[in-house]
Amino acid sequence: MKELHEKIIQDGKVLSNDVLKVDAFLNHQIDPPLMQAIGEEFAARFKEDGITKILTIESSGIAPAMMTGLIIGTPVVFARKKKSLTMSDHLFTSSVHSFTKKETNEISVSKDFLQKGDKVLLMDDFLANGQAVLGLLDIIEQAEAELVGVGIVIEKGFQPGGAMIREKGIRVESLAIIQSLEDGKVTFANGESN
Ligand code: 5GP
Repeated sequence: MKELHEKIIQDGKVLSNDVLKVDAFLNHQIDPPLMQAIGEEFAARFKEDGITKILTIESSGIAPAMMTGLIIGTPVVFARKKKSLTMSDHLFTSSVHSFTKKETNEISVSKDFLQKGDKVLLMDDFLANGQAVLGLLDIIEQAEAELVGVGIVIEKGFQPGGAMIREKGIRVESLAIIQSLEDGKVTFANGESN
């Protein structure tokens, strides 16, 4: 997606050979017109699929998921990383290991907001090792809901998550696929670079 590629080149910061910082538009400060364009793009890609719910994970998946939900016209549910005292045990839970943060979080979704019969678009900001997506897939299975596909804003194609999820026969739509962050440079899978 052209606007996203341009934004990554302009404002993304390569922290190491495998971490891209996008605090300027996605992970800390949020760029609403870009989020709207992202929402329109996902809505166009999944418009024929009868989605009834979008599932993401707090916090950085919420902005793109929210814009997509607004355009498709579905609710957006985000998995919580900390259990709320008011949520008790009426929950689906799974665990997600973050290689970037080197921690494992228990994630949870209330049984009120995900049910059998839901057709779910799973979304996240990044796809790296695929652990966040696996945790959300586990929750969709527990709910006996139907997975339609996975929508990712930025996929790091040189890490194994994308291949692992696609090998399961799952449709993954990524708006930017990064092939390499080597030498402080962003190279996209389509050959563009800064
Ligand atoms: P995975 O579970 O696929 O390994 O990683 C996905 C999660 O890790 C994303 O939700 C995102 O929060 C975080 N993440 C992974 N790699 C990066 C990165 O290069 N930059 C940023 N900003 N977040 C990342």
